[in-house]
Amino acid sequence: MPLIVQKYGGTSVGSVERIMAVAKKVILAKSQGNDIVVVVSAMSGETNRLVSLAKEISDPPNAREFDVLLSTGEQVTISLLSMAIAAQGCPACSYTGGQVRILTDNVHNKARIVDIDDQKIHGDLSQGKVVVVAGFQGVDDNGNITTLGRGGSDTTAVALAAALKADECQIYTDVDGVYTTDPRVVSDARRLEQICFEEMLEMASLGSKVLQIRAVEFASKYNVPLRVLSSFEDGPGTLITIENKKMEKALISGIAFSRDEAKLTLLGVEDRPGIAAHILAPISEANVEVDMIIQNKGVDNTTDFTFTVHRNDYLKALDVLNELTKDLGVREVIGDERIVKISLVGVGMRSHAGIASTMFKALADEGINIQMISTSEIKISVVVNEKYLELGVRTLHSVFGLEEA
Ligand code: ASP
Ligand code: MG
Repeated sequence: MPLIVQKYGGTSVGSVERIMAVAKKVILAKSQGNDIVVVVSAMSGETNRLVSLAKEISDPPNAREFDVLLSTGEQVTISLLSMAIAAQGCPACSYTGGQVRILTDNVHNKARIVDIDDQKIHGDLSQGKVVVVAGFQGVDDNGNITTLGRGGSDTTAVALAAALKADECQIYTDVDGVYTTDPRVVSDARRLEQICFEEMLEMASLGSKVLQIRAVEFASKYNVPLRVLSSFEDGPGTLITIENKKMEKALISGIAFSRDEAKLTLLGVEDRPGIAAHILAPISEANVEVDMIIQNKGVDNTTDFTFTVHRNDYLKALDVLNELTKDLGVREVIGDERIVKISLVGVGMRSHAGIASTMFKALADEGINIQMISTSEIKISVVVNEKYLELGVRTLHSVFGLEEA
């Protein structure tokens, strides 16, 4: 019998009514001749509520106790969903992460899955039961409850699908698939039938929030076919798999963007070996993640060094740089918090030249100045002033013909 792992996010199980609706969907899939394992998130808003409760007591909360607390959100939804499935006539059984034995490392609040015991689950499935598993949590080898980081239920679902060798991992959410870009920015954005792991990874890391990045990495590593679907409407969703023939036709699959960017520039940096490391080491020690980096030699034998960071880390990074300048002989440190990143993504880019120039010309025609550029085999990203985000994304979406057919 085909085995499907379905994952329902917080809004999909946000009320008793919705949980009953999910139960109906689960039973339908089972009646079509599949074994079903369901992974659920906490009811929408619940994890945030628990986070604030903890922070009222201590901030940051004790990491171990925080995991004990956060894991309760999912314990509520697994039990309610199992009851709902049973109430509609199908046997079901729920497990917390620790009960399945989803074994993780002992890094509280962002644990990684090490091993999954599939025995209980297979046993229940063979008795005709639906198995409901709590997302986002596991247990370390000392029996401590761990959690996988926000959005971690996606990862639980994919990891279970890999461990159980499921035929498909279906992620039910409040959108009906992966779109060419955010439909809130471009109203004629189109749902993609298929996209490959590599593209989805780029889209996710460039700001598309449909799936947790780690879940996509996991699915790619273990080659688990992933499907993103709506829990509220019927439809095929978007299938995410390894690259195949059908996909090669599309030059560009999507346009991702991120509003949470800021850039920092050191002007007049000495030009000698070791400088880049010298600048970035204290930045990473301060736990600031750096994205794009550009260094360019100026006329006077000094260089200008620019990099981007998450906007939340801007002030922290600026402090680090201002400290640094004292012993680096930098002329000036400047920064800009009003930038965004727009990226074209597509595996079709690999075999086509001229995409960058088309992109740059389209932006120029709208009077949009490009401040930074970075490329990979399947992506071109530009940094522009934040006021051009909507215009830039819309322009590129139409220039590359991504709208509804
Ligand atoms: N409930 C957790 C969160 O809100 C995990 C998840 O929903 O995936 O982050
Ligand atoms: Mg989620």
